[in-house]
Amino acid sequence: MKVMLHEMSWTEAKEYFMKNDIAILPVGSNEQHGPQNPLGTDHLIAKAIAEETAKRTGVPCLQVIPFGVSSHHRQFWGTIYISSKTFQDYVKEVCVALNYYYVRKIVIVNGHGGNLHALMEMARELREKGIFVSIFQWWSAANKLLPDLFKPEERSHACSEETSMNLALHPHLVDMSKAVDEEPCKHTVQTEGVTLPLDTVDYTSFGVFGKSTTASAEKGKKVLEAVVIELVKHVNLLKEAKIEDLMQKPKV
Ligand SMILES: [Zn+2]
Repeated sequence: MKVMLHEMSWTEAKEYFMKNDIAILPVGSNEQHGPQNPLGTDHLIAKAIAEETAKRTGVPCLQVIPFGVSSHHRQFWGTIYISSKTFQDYVKEVCVALNYYYVRKIVIVNGHGGNLHALMEMARELREKGIFVSIFQWWSAANKLLPDLFKPEERSHACSEETSMNLALHPHLVDMSKAVDEEPCKHTVQTEGVTLPLDTVDYTSFGVFGKSTTASAEKGKKVLEAVVIELVKHVNLLKEAKIEDLMQKPKV
């Protein structure tokens, strides 16, 4: 059975959507991930997790949306960033197009933390319109599922955890000879409780927010399997859920 929507014919898509109301949409970014990782890291990982979940659940997966909210990485070459508003509108319109074919449950596999705010705002708006959007972020799941696999300084942007995922999925795109360990620097005006409008370049020289040299394909494979199992669980729960239980509640 085909699981990628763009590989189906319209008659195959009709057959699926007449019987099912759920789909998977991966989104990511195209941004610097240190000297060792490809710019596509976030969307490539999201795509791989989404496609594997689609295969295991029979729920169709859309093509990945590769560009996201990454202007804070722009000083590092090749980062292609779009505004939060453009990203949100684009993803929303894809969801609304799915809804035209009666899809009311959409699982977004988000590969880039910077997209989360725009996605959450959109998900709340769509829930009011009768579309239930859930957002899955693999690193949040991995943190809970495999707490001891990486140290905190290995879990941040372009660090060992993310690099390990790349080594597991597409090792030919990773150059470990260029991997660095960096300690993000603290801005002179930073105190507890303050959020500053800084860019990655304010904290790092190479774009790595911690330790990346300890990455391995074995660790990446462990993360990949654990997060796919978790996402499959969610997709199956959502598949079975009654739409009225997912919609917003009336005033008390
Ligand atoms: Zn990333």
